[in-house]
Amino acid sequence: MSQPVLVRDVVAAMEVRYRPDWAEDWDAVGLVCGDPSVAVTKIHFAVDATSAVVDEAIASGAQMLITHHPLLFDPVQSVATTTTKGAIIHRLISNGVALFAAHTNADRANPGVSDALATALCLMDIEVLEPLSDDDQIGLGRVGRLGEPMSLQAFVEHVHSVLPVGVAGVKATGDPQAMIQRIAVCGGAGGSALPAVLAADVDAYVTSDLSHHRAGEFADDVDGGKPFLIDATHFGTEWPWLQQAAGLLIADLAGFGTTVETTISILSTDPWRIHSH
Ligand SMILES: [Zn+2]
Repeated sequence: MSQPVLVRDVVAAMEVRYRPDWAEDWDAVGLVCGDPSVAVTKIHFAVDATSAVVDEAIASGAQMLITHHPLLFDPVQSVATTTTKGAIIHRLISNGVALFAAHTNADRANPGVSDALATALCLMDIEVLEPLSDDDQIGLGRVGRLGEPMSLQAFVEHVHSVLPVGVAGVKATGDPQAMIQRIAVCGGAGGSALPAVLAADVDAYVTSDLSHHRAGEFADDVDGGKPFLIDATHFGTEWPWLQQAAGLLIADLAGFGTTVETTISILSTDPWRIHSH
């Protein structure tokens, strides 16, 4: 019979995969609430700990919710239920659900957020786009190639078909008929990696949250040519990580002779709900 898994075992396993010192200085990763000595049999994974996701986690019977985005970024003076985040914290605690976040440490990990995105897009020969210092095994973004060149338009449709991009859909710069094969990706807001994208000699870059000015200036700099920019939404580009992280956690805990059940949120936490065009 397998050993009971405790919250602290899950935290330890996650922090081997997603080392806290890989996170940006401004980030707030790790255990947000919960008792490390409590047993865990079910873990729910989601991009964000919204009220609806917390309800979903409680309904699933989970004792732990693992999210990509931290619930608490900025210093707080109160977690009273009169605040939105306070109410979420209270509901988690009163239902015995620990909350853990792996954010920019999961972005840089290998495998991590952008590996999951690259794999979801069927890229091959995946490498790190922007290595963290001298260690080229981890870092932001990935570069890979499609098995066969395809038109930008066909690739945009492929991206739309494999990622939960919601009503926002997928948008791109460039000539729809241009052929592309070598692709850079960065899950979430990938504007900071644009210089690395230019240096990587890729045909296109899949990410999200590029501002009008940033995307426009980049497209001008390359004279409307490659690399083309493809915005596949923040939620859509991070979502593939949930399944990857859950699978790795199950495997890591199995290595210690322990088992947990995992569930993946089916709720989109993309705040954009309506699109007219
Ligand atoms: Zn994000």
